[in-house]
Amino acid sequence: KEEHMRKPDWLKIKLNTNDEYRGLKKMMREKNLHTVCEEARCPNIHECWGERRTATFMILGDICTRACRFCAVKTGLPNELDLQEPERVADSVVLMNLKHVVITVVARDDLKDGGASVLAETVRAIRRKSPQTSVEVLPSDMGGIEENLQILMDAKPDILNHNIETVRSLTKRVRARATYDRSLEFLRRSKEMQPEIPTKSSLMIGLGETEEEIIEVMDDLRANNVDIMTIGQYLQPTKKHIAVKKYYSPLEFGKLRKIAMDKGFSHCEAGPLVRSSYHADEQVNAATKQ
Ligand code: SF4
Ligand code: SF4
Repeated sequence: KEEHMRKPDWLKIKLNTNDEYRGLKKMMREKNLHTVCEEARCPNIHECWGERRTATFMILGDICTRACRFCAVKTGLPNELDLQEPERVADSVVLMNLKHVVITVVARDDLKDGGASVLAETVRAIRRKSPQTSVEVLPSDMGGIEENLQILMDAKPDILNHNIETVRSLTKRVRARATYDRSLEFLRRSKEMQPEIPTKSSLMIGLGETEEEIIEVMDDLRANNVDIMTIGQYLQPTKKHIAVKKYYSPLEFGKLRKIAMDKGFSHCEAGPLVRSSYHADEQVNAATKQ
């Protein structure tokens, strides 16, 4: 039986609700849109939606064809393709007055292009309706198929983000179908296709990895020309998900951030509540100032 650890104080945060936030939630339901901010019950939602004007939309439905052991997204038969979704996402970006938006997509292994064309269309729709908003895409490996990545890179997102999620030795246990090397390859190829577009990857820690292994991930990402890295604490979404092995302290995160910056990343966010899209608005500037 896996033992459940008690959460340290720095992870106990209180969510306060306000009218603006309730209004935005209502709009999401009316437009039949899904956000990771809500689905993952992200602790940063007020800061992101309110002060920072950032949100992460999840397109192509909220049901994934994969079942990673850390992830709260439902698994099963995917939703029907909704071709109006890119426009509705773009309308919401305007309504929310977003400075930065992250568009992610569940792994649609049932679709030939892995969802690449709808994702590309969403980037274009946001560009048309809200040209001042920077757009970050966060796809799965889209089957590791080169043409799919090309479709996406042709839409010229401001940041290409693909998560490595965990260290090499834990990938098989933690991620479904994805492999460590395929993710590295995906990041390397996207940089080759559009060298001016910053690439980014996120690591969750607390799954039983060693510090040497975390450093190995940094080296592997840099070796594949990744510009931005985020490191956050893994939190178990439900008791059925893989258990937390360690809670890292803010001090330990600070140390990791410093190591990452010394390795040459243009930006690194590291902290207990850091998520892939946390403070993403700052990273666009950091990466382009390089
Ligand atoms: Fe949404 Fe990401 Fe902000 Fe969390 S950190 S609220 S998922 S944009
Ligand atoms: Fe979650 Fe992505 Fe894994 Fe699907 S592929 S279960 S959305 S982490």
